[in-house]
Parts: sequence; C-alpha cells; structure tokens
Amino acid sequence: MQTVLVTGGTGFIGSHTVISLHESGYEVVIVDNLINSKKEVLNRLERITGKRFKFYNIDCCDRDSLKTVFEQNKIDSVIHFAGLKAVGESVQMPLEYYSNNINSMITVLSLMREYNVNNLVFSSSATVYGQSEDVPFTEESPLGVCTNPYGWTKWMLEQIIKDCANAIPSLKVVLLRYFNPVGAHESGLIGEDPKGIPNNLFPYISKVAAGTLEKLTIHGDDYDTPDGTCLRDYIHVCDLAQGHVKALQYIDNNYAGVNIFNLGTGKGTSVKEAVAAFEKACGHEIPHVIGPRRAGDLPVCYASTAKAEQLLGFKASRDINDMCSSCWNWQVNNPDGLQD
Ligand code: NAD
Ligand code: UDP
Repeated sequence: MQTVLVTGGTGFIGSHTVISLHESGYEVVIVDNLINSKKEVLNRLERITGKRFKFYNIDCCDRDSLKTVFEQNKIDSVIHFAGLKAVGESVQMPLEYYSNNINSMITVLSLMREYNVNNLVFSSSATVYGQSEDVPFTEESPLGVCTNPYGWTKWMLEQIIKDCANAIPSLKVVLLRYFNPVGAHESGLIGEDPKGIPNNLFPYISKVAAGTLEKLTIHGDDYDTPDGTCLRDYIHVCDLAQGHVKALQYIDNNYAGVNIFNLGTGKGTSVKEAVAAFEKACGHEIPHVIGPRRAGDLPVCYASTAKAEQLLGFKASRDINDMCSSCWNWQVNNPDGLQD
C-alpha cells in the first residue's frame, strides 16, 4: 500500500482529497499547522471514513520538525496543499505569503530529495494564466502576469518545481491548475470554513442564504457576457479530490518530469446563474444588489478539460446544482463552521 503525505490535509481541498485517497486504497499521513483549519476536521474525517488518520501539527517551513515525518514514515508520494490562499490578504501581507508559500514548498522538496521521495502533486491555480481573455485556458496557454502576491507564489512555485525536476531526473510531478473549487462532502461534515467575512462567491452566498450576512453584492453586471456578470468554471471539491487520485495514478504509469493539468468542468457559470442555482438548493431567495466591478476580475475564465480527460482519465461528474446543494447542506449543519 502506498503512503501519501498530504500537507495542508485538514484544509478545504486537502480534507476532501484525504477521503478520496483512503477510498482508493492509499495510506495517508497529514501535516498541517492549523493556521487556516481546525483539528476537528480529523474527527469529521474519522466519522466519514472510520479511520483515524496520522496527523502532525507541523509548519512545513520548519525543516527539523518536518524531517521527523519523513523519518517516521515511509512516504511514497507528496500532495502539497499547504499554503496561504486569500488573494486580498496577500496584497496586504506579501512577505507572509511569499515566505510561507515558497519556503514550505522548498522545504518539502529538499526533504523529498533527502529521503528519495520522487512523486509530487502540487496545488496550482488558474490564476497563473493571468489576465488573458483567450478562453478556454489550455495547459499550453502562456503564463500571464498575476495581479496579486498569492498568484505570483503559484507562478513562482511552478517554475521552482520545473527547475528541480530538471536537476533531479527521477522526480515525477503533476501540477494541477484548479479553477474554482466549491461545494462540500455529501455527509455535510466537512466543507469550506473561511475565517471572517468571505471574499469568494460561494462562501458569501452561503452566509447570505443562512441569514448571517444581509445581502450579496454582485460585482458588476455590465460585462460582455450573456447576462452581464462574470463567468467562472466552478468545480465540485469532491470531483477535484478525485483528480488528485488520478494524478497519482498517472505518476505511477509515466516517465519522470513535470506534467500539467487543468482541473475544471470546462463550463462557465455566471454569478447570476450561481445565485439562481443556490436559491433552488436552499429553497428561498438570496437578497442581492448589483455593485461596481471588482478590480482585477476577468470577465470569463474556464478550462479546457481535453488534456485531463485524455491523459488523466479525469472528468468532473457533479454539476452546479450538486455544488450548491452540498454547500448548503454543509452550511445548515455547521452554521458557525467547525469549533475545536
Ligand atoms: P485551505 O486554507 O483550506 O487549506 C490549506 C491548509 O494548509 C490549511 O489547513 C492551512 O492550515 C495549511 N497551511 C498553510 N500554511 C501551512 C504551513 N506552512 N505548514 C503547514 N500547513 C499549512 O485552502 P484550500 O482551499 O484547501 O487550498 C489548498 C491549496 O490549493 C492551496 O495551496 C491553495 O492555494 C490551492 N488552491 C486553492 C483554490 C481555492 O479556490 N480554494 C484554488 C486554486 C488553488
Ligand atoms: N463575486 C461577486 N460577489 C462576491 C464575491 C464574488 O459578485 O461577493 C463574483 C466575482 O466578481 C467573480 C465571481 O463571483 O466574478 C467568482 O469570484 P470568486 O472570488 O469566488 O473567484 P475568482 O474571482 O477568484 O475566480
């Protein structure tokens, strides 16, 4: 049985991926410093899977502590989710973002080299395509100019990983460029649990639907799109999780080097369509107003899914209604998120 080290494994995408890995027969070791997640996630994962996962409360930038994980476990592969991800916060705190996101990956890579661990899946983002309006984005689309430090960390880390793969011929890497992960596990036991007032659309709608926030502001309805609001490629987090299993299987069956895949549905959904789908899921209206455009927003962003379909055998199976109903189920069952 292969053992996968999942850094950031108590976070939103990491926790859902742990379930998919377990269901696919992998042994999982989780490392997380809990800067943006709760230890309670481990109890929830145990309720869902019947398994208590091995957990280390460690900062991935702390080499000595992280070394103990490689010392104590025979790690076959690493999925590196650990990182800070709030776009607005990254503009306010660039040093913290560069320091955490870059150093944690470098520390993981150097320990992988030391312990001869050769398989890596890295969480990248569609943000690396920058402000191009040439959609859909294919993996061959040129990398763009990012609009914030968070985006640049992904851009830089992709380069750092490519350089390492050049220098270490045995390294096998899959870079996954996520589009917009949303939704929650069908159990309603784990989901996205952002601190404070959310910036992203789904957590915000969810809080408005629950009555915690008064109304949603739609950031602009004068774009050149069918209903004037921006289109995004929302992908259910459980589909995304499955994509990581496919990535590990791909690594097992292929030569060394860096392989890049988009993970999306290939379909653009407008903000107004997302609101309507959420209203259907929660059974009542979501108060909303139209506000000005948000700086830096692309009018349209969606993935070409052809490469992931052909080479990974990955195709998202859940639609926008599944995303909204699972998100609402999580919200209703955990109105205040998770508590430790
Ligand atoms: P998340 O914040 O829920 O999960 C990240 C986890 O990493 C958290 O549990 C946090 O406590 C942990 N962490 C952060 N820095 C750490 C460190 N130095 N050492 C140990 N643990 C650390 O975020 P998520 O939405 O699950 O995202 C996971 C990854 O996917 C991130 O790298 C993120 O940038 C990337 N990503 C996310 C999205 C998205 O929309 N959610 C889109 C594209 C890419
Ligand atoms: N959005 C919105 N109101 C909000 C939050 C988001 O209208 O309160 C819009 C945003 O302008 C974008 C879409 O919803 O068009 C998705 O935004 P999100 O921040 O979730 O993802 P991203 O823009 O990073 O793809």
